[in-house]
Amino acid sequence: MTYTLPEELEDLRGQIRELALSKVAPRAAEIDREGKYPWDIQKLLAENELLGYAIPEEYGGSGASLLACCIVAEELARICATTSLIFVVQKLAAYPIVLAGSEETKKKYLPPLARGEWLASFCLTEREAGSDAGATKTTAKEVEGGYVLNGEKCFITNGGLAQVYSTFAVTDPEMGVKGISAFVVEKSFEGFSVGAIEDKMGLRGAQVSEIRFEECFVPKENMLGSRGEGFSIAMKTLDNSRPLVGAQALGIAQGALDVAVQWAKERKQFGSPIGKLQGIQFMLADMKTQVEAARQLVYRSATLCDMNHPEMSMFSAMAKLYASDTAMRVTTDAVQVLGGYGYMKNQPLERMMRDAKVTQIYEGTNQVQRVVIARRLLGKI
Ligand SMILES: Cc1cc2nc3c(=O)[nH]c(=O)nc-3n(C[C@H](O)[C@H](O)[C@H](O)COP(=O)(O)OP(=O)(O)OC[C@H]3O[C@@H](n4cnc5c(N)ncnc54)[C@H](O)[C@@H]3O)c2cc1C
Repeated sequence: MTYTLPEELEDLRGQIRELALSKVAPRAAEIDREGKYPWDIQKLLAENELLGYAIPEEYGGSGASLLACCIVAEELARICATTSLIFVVQKLAAYPIVLAGSEETKKKYLPPLARGEWLASFCLTEREAGSDAGATKTTAKEVEGGYVLNGEKCFITNGGLAQVYSTFAVTDPEMGVKGISAFVVEKSFEGFSVGAIEDKMGLRGAQVSEIRFEECFVPKENMLGSRGEGFSIAMKTLDNSRPLVGAQALGIAQGALDVAVQWAKERKQFGSPIGKLQGIQFMLADMKTQVEAARQLVYRSATLCDMNHPEMSMFSAMAKLYASDTAMRVTTDAVQVLGGYGYMKNQPLERMMRDAKVTQIYEGTNQVQRVVIARRLLGKI
């Protein structure tokens, strides 16, 4: 397997980099400061056909590979992690429909998502079911013509902004994880409501909220896959999305390294640029080495997902684990390279450090990634 990207992906990187530098960079600090969802950036991504980038062409998207999506997520995150998340969540939340929706469901929901007219949310986590997603409590009771959902989700990105929610609920409680089913729920359905909006450490422009279902009727044609297939759909979706979170983390780390290298060349102490100090050189060398190692793992995991390779789940977990730990280490060290200036809000590094943290937490914490990797390594013992 080659680790050199084909020319068209390097061209794509150049185009996204140009877009991010010209249109996103001037807004990045402001988005963080204001803590409001950046609709102008959402529009920018939609106009550049990035919100439907991963959706198959027959439903109005670009049908891009996961590897191409990783390049986009990385280059956006290098400048602004919130912008990268807008791209990543649309892919994550539309994927259950792409994977398991009926032809009618795909035709109904994917084109407006591909055009970026609608946003999507992935609605799995609950207060009592975080890492243990199999402990989902939200119920879906069968009634004539469909299912009635009751329960509450938490930490849902795009909560309240999205029109479409890929939602996981229990249809058959006695069957454990095989009793969980997946549904497409529209924001307009009666009984759907938005709860508290979270005040977060980082990704300040993203909206993350509770979502409530109170006697919320969902027509039976909105079930994704068959009854009881929901947990498997959720896990396959996460396998296909973790390389993207890895790419987001990689972009944050690369962005921090860019700033630190520039600073080391310009900042003078003891009469010379601090980049002449071996202590600083070694920090930068370690940061670069970790970033490149993360990049190879992220691209490899995305390539394996594109091939539907049997090891994709383990590689996705490794990519997300390693790239997010790298993002946390590299952003912390980059702050150190800038000294007191790194700690101040007029430099981007403290924002990058806060944004990096969540990549170790969402789409499965890094402890959970280690569980996934160890299970694959050891098999049944
Ligand atoms: C900003 C943000 C956005 C999010 N967006 C979404 C979204 O769009 N949709 C969605 O469904 N969810 C979303 N989440 C939820 C996220 O996926 C969960 O927070 C995450 O899976 C962890 O669950 P928890 O927070 O309940 O932590 P817990 O599960 O309570 O974990 C607490 C600690 O215990 C550790 N732990 C748990 N189980 C194990 C184990 N088996 N072995 C070792 N350690 C373990 C964890 O690693 C962690 O350190 C989001 C979260 C955040 C912070």
